Amino acid sequence: LTAGNADQALTPVIQGPNSPYQRAWYPILPEYPPQVKLFIDGRFVESKSSEWLDIHNPATNEVVARVPKATQEEMLAAVDSCSRTFRSWSETSILARQQIFLRYQQLIKDNIKELAKSITLEQGKTLADAEGDVFRGLQVVEHTCSITSLMLGETLPSLTKDMDTHTYRLPIGVCAGITPFNFPAMIPLWMFPMGMVCGNTYLLKPSERVPSCAMLLAKMLQDAGAPDGTLNVIHGQHAAVNFICDHPAIKAISFVGSNQAGEYIYERGCKNGKRVQSNMGAKNHGVVMPDANKENTLNQLVGAAFGAAGQRCMALSTAILVGEARSWLPELVERAKMLRVNAGDQPGADVGPLISPQAKQRVCSLIQSGVDEGAKLLLDGRAVKVKGYENGNFVGPTIISGVTPEMKCYTEEIFGPVLVVLEADTLDDAISLVNNNPYGNGTAIFTTNGATARKYTHEVDVGQVGVNVPIPVPLPMFSFTGSRGSFRGDTNFYGKQGIQFYTQIKTVTTQWKAEDATVKSPAVTMPTMGR
Ligand code: NAD
Repeated sequence: LTAGNADQALTPVIQGPNSPYQRAWYPILPEYPPQVKLFIDGRFVESKSSEWLDIHNPATNEVVARVPKATQEEMLAAVDSCSRTFRSWSETSILARQQIFLRYQQLIKDNIKELAKSITLEQGKTLADAEGDVFRGLQVVEHTCSITSLMLGETLPSLTKDMDTHTYRLPIGVCAGITPFNFPAMIPLWMFPMGMVCGNTYLLKPSERVPSCAMLLAKMLQDAGAPDGTLNVIHGQHAAVNFICDHPAIKAISFVGSNQAGEYIYERGCKNGKRVQSNMGAKNHGVVMPDANKENTLNQLVGAAFGAAGQRCMALSTAILVGEARSWLPELVERAKMLRVNAGDQPGADVGPLISPQAKQRVCSLIQSGVDEGAKLLLDGRAVKVKGYENGNFVGPTIISGVTPEMKCYTEEIFGPVLVVLEADTLDDAISLVNNNPYGNGTAIFTTNGATARKYTHEVDVGQVGVNVPIPVPLPMFSFTGSRGSFRGDTNFYGKQGIQFYTQIKTVTTQWKAEDATVKSPAVTMPTMGR
């Protein structure tokens, strides 16, 4: 491999804007593949680790970069930098912190295409979807710019004579984030901007499979004016995760990823006295009522099941066809067949590759398990061939019908472009199917009947519900409220709950006796309030 190979994979199609960040995520280095740096105390540094992992372009399986497993010494340096900086950062005025994030959101906006390119190269999703990934994270950054309202405390005056009580929200210290491979921009942006704008310093460990977008985001944050040491980035796998769970300076952990890792991190972090919020796996059901708008519903089901190759925690991976809606199945299959499977940087691509050959193998074996257990394979994407990308991890849209709740393809999160279809006679039957599933991330109902929608939204035990909205991920003025098996913790990501997670409340009760008041000389200049 030469450095040219990585470029060839993208340059025929992707023309970047004249951005200072163009290709900044892989600095021009004489050696190939490029080595992803650590970000410690405001410097992008080469790791001294002897252990490195290859990063592959999922469309070709070529190695495009290498990422280190940070050494113990490097991880300690990163957390020490966070600890040292906490005092000054937490005392930086809230208006100054707000200004940094105002600049940051503009920098992200200006460089959205560059960020998307790095995502497509390492994660595989289509460029349009990669821009969506950045955009949803950007919305959280925009929301952090309202911190001056979000962090307001409460006041109750005149509790008794001359006595008032008020509360402050204060940062908690060093916070850490551990992120998955499927949203290289959005999920890191759920974490460190919220944590930092509240006055915490932040240690980020991005997914080792897609680290470059996080590095680009770190560079932009530095360029927006974030002081050295406010954000540190380390790389690695289990050792880095254990380090975060155990280091006493780290007060809170935000995790997004699989149940296996999420349950483990929740337990280990909590045992060490940390706050932990853990967003995990899912099995999201779309309930299709016979009175639904057929055209919209079929399009939405197809988009939400197969978009991002099904590698979304909110993918609508399970359809429940109620009553007469069963007869829509052949049309659903026809629409799914129309999707174009291709490398994410190719024009017109709808479905990109899966993250790794192992992921492809796992998805294919779960499809086979459905067949072996008696389900019907109406559309089989396992043999899909993509011209020019024969080595990529592609699986085409796949639909399995006649699925029942005990089948493995139903009990396991597939995390691929596979829609499993169940049937129900009534709305009550559909609700009980969904409520018997252990996950509670998201669900949607498709109907034109308001009463049906209301009954569903009230009775279904899932944290995020869409009515004719297939992927109901809330905007950041709300919170991401996955529930049951999809979440561990007390306070959710972003929105009001995000602020609560990253702050502690101090309650102050004061008594200033009226008879002690003195009169001061008046100030005549406009107060600048710390700016
Ligand atoms: P993953 O759990 O394999 O990896 C997530 C992070 O945990 C990575 O940084 C990884 O280094 C670390 N990790 C992995 N295995 C670990 C282990 N055994 N012990 C300790 N740390 C470990 O997840 P992934 O494959 O990157 O992401 C896909 C999963 O994430 C899916 O299950 C998906 O549903 C879930 N997800 C959930 C949400 C949500 O908001 N609920 C959002 C996106 C993704």
